[in-house]
Amino acid sequence: MSVTTNDAPIFDAAAWRLTEQEIELTGRARELGEGVFAARAATFDREARFPTENYVDLREAGLLGVCVPATYGGLGADYRAYALTAAEIGRYCGATALTFNMHVCSCLWTGPLADAIDMDPAQRAEHERRRALHYARIVEHGAIYAQPFSEGGSAAAGAVPFATTAVRDGDGWRVSGRKIFASLAGHADYYGILCTEADTEGKLARRNTLYVAVPASAPGLRVEGDWDPLGMRGTVSRTLILDDVRVAADEALMPSGLYYQAAVRWPHMFLTLTPAYLGIAQAAYDFTVRYLRGEVPGQAGDKRRDQAVKRHNVARMHLMLEQTKALWFQVVSEARVDPPREMMLRAYAAQYTVMENANELCQLAIRTCGGQSMLRTLPIERLYRDSRCGSLMLPWSADICLERLGHDALYAPGEHD
Ligand SMILES: Cc1cc2nc3c(=O)[nH]c(=O)nc-3n(C[C@H](O)[C@H](O)[C@H](O)COP(=O)(O)OP(=O)(O)OC[C@H]3O[C@@H](n4cnc5c(N)ncnc54)[C@H](O)[C@@H]3O)c2cc1C
Repeated sequence: MSVTTNDAPIFDAAAWRLTEQEIELTGRARELGEGVFAARAATFDREARFPTENYVDLREAGLLGVCVPATYGGLGADYRAYALTAAEIGRYCGATALTFNMHVCSCLWTGPLADAIDMDPAQRAEHERRRALHYARIVEHGAIYAQPFSEGGSAAAGAVPFATTAVRDGDGWRVSGRKIFASLAGHADYYGILCTEADTEGKLARRNTLYVAVPASAPGLRVEGDWDPLGMRGTVSRTLILDDVRVAADEALMPSGLYYQAAVRWPHMFLTLTPAYLGIAQAAYDFTVRYLRGEVPGQAGDKRRDQAVKRHNVARMHLMLEQTKALWFQVVSEARVDPPREMMLRAYAAQYTVMENANELCQLAIRTCGGQSMLRTLPIERLYRDSRCGSLMLPWSADICLERLGHDALYAPGEHD
């Protein structure tokens, strides 16, 4: 596919040795992003409205099925190919990239990740049959999935079991609970709910986490609350209430207990929130260079690059972006099942670096370009607000990454004082 975009790829294909598939998918994403999403982003942000039009385009481009295995009619992207593709979308609309991640997780977790973890033959056969139903909804009918796991307590951080419960009801379940910040609320066709199956004594344990798809039309499911946040306004992350919702057995996205194994053995699954913010980091840098060169449509005045301090700040931004990209690329390249400790430390470092540096690059962009650059007619103030959300995302928020890095660098597994 020949790609007609003005923007250079975030990762040059030859320099970073991208695969043919990565070149094709990132090109497709950049073409949509630069050609269509960029112009719509301000409206979704201003109106705090879900980017429905972008999802129509994503579907037409085949990207809703980006991580659906090719044997099920999808594009069959692996973890890195997906991450690179989502980063290109994040450059142009952070809210689209972040919600796209929630959707794609439903395929990545049930696809390449599930393939890498242990299942007995019966579980594997059941999983194959059920994921075929789930993938057909996406590939054939354009279904969109949300990924609400946050509850406001420590469950989303992985510290305690999810308080949303699933109680056996025939061969299915009845699910009850409350999910906060459910991106795509009111706009998804299915909600990939993480909940806990109580054991025979009614106790909740993390290893009994169940991952099920709840159709938006299910009786007992409702969306509530306002949505008027600082940033990532197009995600429409309102509250989801599940009030004794009947969930059929075939809605299990993984066999019972398998989500816990995936979370423990494939922890990079939680790093997939970073591509949206890596895209924002690139966008902040691109904006600054263009603005100082007098090339941003709608900017007041001419070239503004003559002061040494501006060149100095651009150099700082350049360094920060290169460092962020290099670390992130390494981590998305090495992500795999059962990563050794060193790889885990690097994953936390990458998550922290992307989320914090995206915001730092945006604030440096405004400081360097000046007051006229942060008017709402230009994109940098939106990038700045969107970027602020990155380090809040659980389970790997910036503070949790710091805590784990400090702890795991000093204590071997199982070591205590
Ligand atoms: C725009 C946006 C979209 C989102 N979309 C989704 C979504 O689609 N699905 C979803 O499930 N969630 C989503 N979230 C929620 C997000 O992942 C967090 O769960 C949420 O921001 C936590 O908010 P809180 O007020 O409960 O903060 P808290 O969890 O109270 O966190 C406050 C601070 O405490 C720290 N902290 C929290 N727990 C621990 C711990 N155990 N150990 C150490 N430090 C800790 C955090 O790092 C943070 O700095 C979204 C959030 C935003 C901002």
